[in-house]
Amino acid sequence: MSRPPAYDEKIHPGEYLGMLGDGQLGRMFCHAAQAMGYKVIALGQEADGPTGQIAEQHISADYESLAALQQMADAVRAVTTEFENVPAQSLKQLSYTVRTTPAASAVAVIQDRISEKSFIRATGVPVAEHAAIRQLEDLDRVKAALFPGILKAARLGYDGKGQAIVNNLAEAKQAFKDLGEVECVLEAKLPLAYELSVVLARNLEDDIVTYPVGVNHHINGILSSTTVYPGLVPEELAAQAIDYAKALASNLNYFGVMCVEFFVLDAAKLSPDHPTLVVNEIAPRPHNSGHYTMNATSCSQFEQQVRVMAGMPLGDTRLLQPTIMLNILGDSWFVADEAQAQEPDWAAVLSLAGVSLHLYGKAEPRPGRKMGHVNIIHADIDTLYETAQKVSDILHLGAELSRN
Ligand code: ADP
Ligand code: MG
Repeated sequence: MSRPPAYDEKIHPGEYLGMLGDGQLGRMFCHAAQAMGYKVIALGQEADGPTGQIAEQHISADYESLAALQQMADAVRAVTTEFENVPAQSLKQLSYTVRTTPAASAVAVIQDRISEKSFIRATGVPVAEHAAIRQLEDLDRVKAALFPGILKAARLGYDGKGQAIVNNLAEAKQAFKDLGEVECVLEAKLPLAYELSVVLARNLEDDIVTYPVGVNHHINGILSSTTVYPGLVPEELAAQAIDYAKALASNLNYFGVMCVEFFVLDAAKLSPDHPTLVVNEIAPRPHNSGHYTMNATSCSQFEQQVRVMAGMPLGDTRLLQPTIMLNILGDSWFVADEAQAQEPDWAAVLSLAGVSLHLYGKAEPRPGRKMGHVNIIHADIDTLYETAQKVSDILHLGAELSRN
């Protein structure tokens, strides 16, 4: 049985890299890997999904299938993943013979909101006041200060799914039952001024790079836009967010690309000793809020993911142009007729200067489903916002983009 490559061993273009996952993040990883001459073998259930369409090879199987994991281990020397809920045990299994970035141990901490929040707090980084709710009776013991709050399933939530706003104990109990009495966290609903994220990459030699801080807007719990340019976020705040993100990555012993989502709170609505920057959550993978790096930097978050697993030096994260990323959901297909999908006006979008269209190859548009995104870059910030607003209007994204 072979051993995983030593930390400083390089995997060279021409070799295969392994991807656990079928989605759009896996697809964009493939594009980055292939651009550098690597080949990808992906494991997942959807051979014709966004990743499977692009990877050189696809193993159609359960993530837990030992036979499939063995097939992967025989084909590659390094494996990564594109989704938070990849079974940590599968990464662990692979790690006996293959380099896995990130490691199972880091993913296991992040994929459970209870252990994730304990870890963040133990690192000395502020998080929302919260309580672990493992059974109904735990709710009787929570502090009144957690209401109004948000009850979140500890596992498997994404895009605001598996969450409920609860104003009091009775609503919390009902919501806990509605979520099927799975383990949850109850966290205080905080007065958000806005949301930030930091995407970083850390390699096996402990080098770490961070991308410029993005400002994120959500619509109905789903990311709608990310905006990045110098001066948008106060310098001190951005520096603090970056320091926190780096501390989390190194304390987790994290190798790979990771995103930390932050809340910036409205100080006027808080007690004077409450921190105004708190971590919301960590994603153990490239993140939707880092898609701007595909056009606004020379090395995208997906290329960093490739570089880390291949044991290569990290890429340059400087922002080359002010940028806005807009998510495209399936809703854009149902503007004229809510029953019959109609192709959005791509030509109108593509007629605008500074616009790059990224679509994920999903056959069926559905409301709320992430279908693609548009990156807009422009040296002039007013023109950037104007162009982004035009894109939003053409695709009926409902984003409001203005410099305020
Ligand atoms: P997901 O895993 O679905 O991304 P999040 O925990 O990030 O779930 O919540 C989704 C969004 O809901 C956040 O980006 C934020 O806008 C809002 N939200 C989540 N938690 C809180 C909170 N404690 N207070 C206020 N808003 C919150
Ligand atoms: Mg989130």
